[in-house]
Amino acid sequence: MYYVHRHAIYLLILLCALIIIVDKNFDMRSQSGSIFFVDSTTVKKIRAEFETAKKGGERIKVLIVPGHDKEAGGAVFKKVSELGLNLELGGKLEELFLTDTRFDVTLAQDSKGYNPMLQTYFTEKNDQILEFRRQKHLGMYSIQKTGLVQSNVQVQHNNAPGDTVTKLYGLNMWANENGIDLVIHIHFNDTARKNVRSAGENSGFALYIPDHQYSNAAVSKNIAQNVYVRLFDRFPQSDVPPEKDGILEDQQLIGLGASNSLDAPSLFIEYAYIYEPQFQSSVVRKLWLHEAALQTYLGIVDFFENRERGVGETAVLPYSWMQDLSMGIKNHPDVLALQIALNLEGLYPPQGSTKNDCPLTGIFFECTKRAVKAFQKKYHLEASGIAERLTRAQLHILYGK
Ligand SMILES: [Zn+2]
Repeated sequence: MYYVHRHAIYLLILLCALIIIVDKNFDMRSQSGSIFFVDSTTVKKIRAEFETAKKGGERIKVLIVPGHDKEAGGAVFKKVSELGLNLELGGKLEELFLTDTRFDVTLAQDSKGYNPMLQTYFTEKNDQILEFRRQKHLGMYSIQKTGLVQSNVQVQHNNAPGDTVTKLYGLNMWANENGIDLVIHIHFNDTARKNVRSAGENSGFALYIPDHQYSNAAVSKNIAQNVYVRLFDRFPQSDVPPEKDGILEDQQLIGLGASNSLDAPSLFIEYAYIYEPQFQSSVVRKLWLHEAALQTYLGIVDFFENRERGVGETAVLPYSWMQDLSMGIKNHPDVLALQIALNLEGLYPPQGSTKNDCPLTGIFFECTKRAVKAFQKKYHLEASGIAERLTRAQLHILYGK
């Protein structure tokens, strides 16, 4: 995602690299007005549909859209590409929904390209998709002229190239025609950096939801709140000032239903920043992405079940720690598993630090050392800050395989 906040204080330029998820062909105008669009679904209705699915009736239809594609791959940092992360996380999320008989899942693309069924749809329906988009724009334009719907542009995004816009509207049209119940767009963020090789300063996730005036807004917001608390159990929220609320409304992101073009509730999740250190090692990255997918899935199920979220559910534990872990060990899955165990103990991030200061990285440095010391004190072990034999034995009692 790329935006410049309207207030010049935050001259933050985020580049979900040169790519484009927004359609600004239609010029929004600021006008006062009231709610016009009718809700496409309600929390009560969609939960009732879930109850039907639980009894073996029609399943809840989920569309997962890993952001960007080969034409426009999104952010890049060293050897890590946003498209690669989006596809890997999307694949994990698909797996979780595939094993759950209450859901019917469609993955928009994988490493081989777009889902062939959708690719055929884009090709065959190209003219209808363009007309769909035109009609939605015209509708939005005339409604805004009457003042019934207000412009609500908090954050400026960059323009989408024609082909990407058409595919994104195509996904909305397909979702409407096929009675999709929930759409999840997967992205990773980027921000202005000194140069391509240096990491940026911001970290954390942000959840974008449809503008409150849109038909799919109310349910999207409720689902987002459930996903937010699950993600925040493990991961830091974005510390970029415009994203300080964690959950942000957006009127222009096509994936969320720009110009009220999507009936289904939709979430657009920026999971982290592309340059965060946990993505540099493929082993740590894999575990991290699996954890992010699991927490997303659990948040969605929490919403449908209308339940309090559980604690301690993680994709990484139980785990076997086979070697001592100490300061300086980098990009190691044992360290990531240790950090998650310490997180479940309430000791990571260590006292006085935030999740942005001490994220889950697979890197054993000051944060992990302090947390290991706190763990050792809690279990009456020598507070060495090294996860040696006795400390690992205690970890195995609590979280071992
Ligand atoms: Zn992106």
